[in-house]
Formats: sequence, C-alpha cells, structure tokens
Amino acid sequence: MAEDSDPRPAQLEDAHARLKTVFERLDVAEDVRVRLAQPALSLQVGIPVRMDDGQLRVFTGWRVQYGTIRGPAKGGVRFHPAVTADEVSTLSFWMAIKCAVAGLPYGGGKGGVRVDPKCLSRGELERLSRGYMRAIADVVGPDRDIPAPDVNTNPTIMGWMADEYANIVRRHDLAVITGKPLELGGSRGRVESTGRGALQVLDLWAQREGREAARTTVAVQGFGNAGYHFARLAHQAGYRIVALSDSKGGIHAPDGLDPEPIWAHKHERRKLNDAVYCEDSVVGGHDCAREISNEELLALEVDVLVLAALEDQIDERNAGEVRAGLILEIANGPVTSKADAILAQRGIAVLPDVLSNCGGVIVSYFEWIQNRSGDYWDEDCVNLRLSKRLEAEATAVMDLAAVESVSFRDAAYLHGVGRIADAQSQRGTCRDFSTG
Ligand code: NAD
Repeated sequence: MAEDSDPRPAQLEDAHARLKTVFERLDVAEDVRVRLAQPALSLQVGIPVRMDDGQLRVFTGWRVQYGTIRGPAKGGVRFHPAVTADEVSTLSFWMAIKCAVAGLPYGGGKGGVRVDPKCLSRGELERLSRGYMRAIADVVGPDRDIPAPDVNTNPTIMGWMADEYANIVRRHDLAVITGKPLELGGSRGRVESTGRGALQVLDLWAQREGREAARTTVAVQGFGNAGYHFARLAHQAGYRIVALSDSKGGIHAPDGLDPEPIWAHKHERRKLNDAVYCEDSVVGGHDCAREISNEELLALEVDVLVLAALEDQIDERNAGEVRAGLILEIANGPVTSKADAILAQRGIAVLPDVLSNCGGVIVSYFEWIQNRSGDYWDEDCVNLRLSKRLEAEATAVMDLAAVESVSFRDAAYLHGVGRIADAQSQRGTCRDFSTG
C-alpha cells in the first residue's frame, strides 16, 4: 500500500524568497543563482517493510542533495507523517547554506520518510531504517553524501543504517553517517551539540547587548533532543526557563523551571520499556507549573522565544502575537519569510536557524574527521573545537549584520552564500567564457 500524495510545493519557494536580498547585495555570478535555484539530485524511493502481522507496507522516502559545490552533501534524515518531497528539498537547501555559514567543507543534503514511527514496533522501525539505507545506498558515501539524525531519528537508528551500509559495501565505512552511537564510531558531545551551539550563539548576542543571563526569561517550544539540551545548558548558565512544550502541549512557570527532572519524568516509561521513542509529555505531573497550549507559549511575554520543534510555527497569522524580544531558531525554518517581515517591523530580532543550530552539523563534521583518521577525541576537545569555530562564525555574522545594517538572517545568508559563490567561481563560472 503506498502512502498518501504530496501537497503543492511551497516551502522551497518561501525559502528561496530569502535569497533575493542576498543576491541584491552580493555580486554573485549568474551561475550561482542558477545553481541555487534547484537541487542537484532528488531521489524518491519506495521502501518495502514486512510488518509484524505479516502484511507488506511500502513507505515513501526521499534523499535530496541540494548542492555539492563546497563538498559532499550533508544533512539529517527525518521520520515524520508530514514529510513531503518539498519539505526535504527545502531542508537540504538550508543545509547547503548552513554548512557554508559554519565554514564546513560540505554541500547540503537531507532525507526523510513519510511515516509515523511511533506506530511501529522496534523491529518494524529497524527494518524501515535498514530498508531506507538500502534504497539510497547508491547515492550516499563518505565523499558523496553523509546522513545524520533529525526529527524522530536518533543514534540507535543511525547505528542500524551504518550497519546496513557496511553490509552493502562489505567493509566498515563509518564516515558514511554521523550521529552514531559511541560504540559504533559516534563522537563524544554530538547528542547535545545542537543545543550547546545554540546557547553559545545566544550568549554571544546577550554579551553584545549587555544582557545578563539571570535577568533573561526564556520559553522553549519543542522539548526533544535539540530543545532539551539547550534548555538544560541554558538553565545551568543561569537563564530563567519559564516555559516548555512538546507536541502534546506546554507548561508555564514564571519563577523558572529546571528542565532536567522534567526530561527524566517524561522519559521514565520509555527507559523502563527500552523503547526508541518517548510517548509521554512535559504536560502532567508538575505541580510547579501551569499547563498551557503551544499557541499560548508562542505568545508569552518573555525575553527569548526558542523555537525547537518544526518548520512554519510563526507565520503571517501569528507573527503579530509574538511578545518576545528575540527569537532563537533551533528548528529549521520555524519562521516563514512573511513572518520575518512582520517581526522586523515590530523590532523583534531573530537569530536564524542556519547559524543558531549549526552546532549539530559542526560536531557531525568532527565525527566524520574522527572516523576517517581513527583518532578519537575526548569531550572537552570536541566542545572546545565547537566553541572556537562557532565563536568565529557567529561573530562574523553579527559583525556583518551591524556593518550592513541588515537582519541576522540576511547577514548569515550573505556570509554563507558568499562562500558558496566563491567556491563556484574557483570551479569556473560563465565569466570565464565571456568574450567582452
Ligand atoms: P526531536 O524529534 O528530538 O524533537 C522534536 C520535539 O518537538 C519533540 O519534543 C516534539 O514533541 C516537539 N514538537 C513537535 N511538534 C510540536 C508542536 N507543534 N509544538 C511543540 N512541540 C512540538 O527532534 P530534534 O532533533 O530535537 O529536532 C528539532 C528541530 O531541530 C528540527 O527542526 C530539526 O530539524 C532541528 N535540528 C535538529 C538538530 C539535531 O542535531 N537534533 C540539528 C539541527 C537542527
């Protein structure tokens, strides 16, 4: 049985809208504009999976390589019932920009399978993960395209995929995938790297604004891998976390919350059952907090609103209701381009995804290096290298925003697209063929 069909593509169009300002400001060769207009490779696959009841189901999946101008494609794999070809292409486009912003020798890639993984048994999930890798094996590889975790995928799933790839190529080729378990060549510090990097970007902004952590209130939408580690580390650094939410709802405590016990409570049942996914929520069982909806969380009066769930959470319909002073995007694409304009008009700054969440791909890059060299680093070394790289790139973006009087997002795009354009020119552009 095939899964349902795609809605009309619109996300990629919205994402491309952001290139307009960048192309107006950068002297970019026509080749670059043309190349960035569409992905280099889009593969759609049908993944047959034998279910536990004996029935055969075919799941639709994708792997998209947006561009490989700066190196092999790099990007996560998402398991979600709402995944579409358009979404995967858009996410791969953002990965291309992000890897360039972070100065990594990678292009952009992304993958996804349209499935509600929480409805599968552990065995079905493993067969699906291995089936996905078999379906895309011809187009991935350490020098070609390197997948990683994203929404609803994690080190366990990366381990299954890495093992399947090893079976296919008949050798250990660990650098084909990152975000693996430590026992299978994963990097120390990878699990929390996205949250850690996002906190560093926030800290840098706060320093430049002369703002103290202890006087800064924070609401976090999305309490998964990225959102939890951000909230935990931000709480440790003294920020006041006043609200958290997941797909089932949110909680609000104006005096502040400690995210660690909330996470432990949420994951208690999963650990007992040795389950891949957590079925529980931040909602329920916390006397210290009032339950709120996700819509209410987005409209809370806080200093920082952190978006760490999914795309399109703030659009032109609710951008007018945001009362935060700053938005920190940890999710990819949580603010639409129309909402960007409304927020800018209202003086609400946005620290954009392509900068704020790049800690994850930076440590994935470290994992790739460690796999290829066979030299494994301790956690302090990983964190120090992450911090140095992020400090340099985030400072460059924030300085550029100040010098050019543009938003942080436009500055990040100028920084990243400028690097892609430079690499394209080094490869040879239409200018080399001009007769003038
Ligand atoms: P995850 O699956 O671990 O967590 C997602 C969280 O969002 C879950 O808590 C889920 O319940 C919640 N959620 C889903 N819909 C929601 C809604 N409507 N309102 C509130 N919460 C909702 O995924 P993750 O790895 O933490 O990724 C989250 C986002 O961060 C994604 O956009 C992903 O692309 C981005 N990201 C993740 C990484 C990484 O290393 N994990 C790196 C870069 C970017």
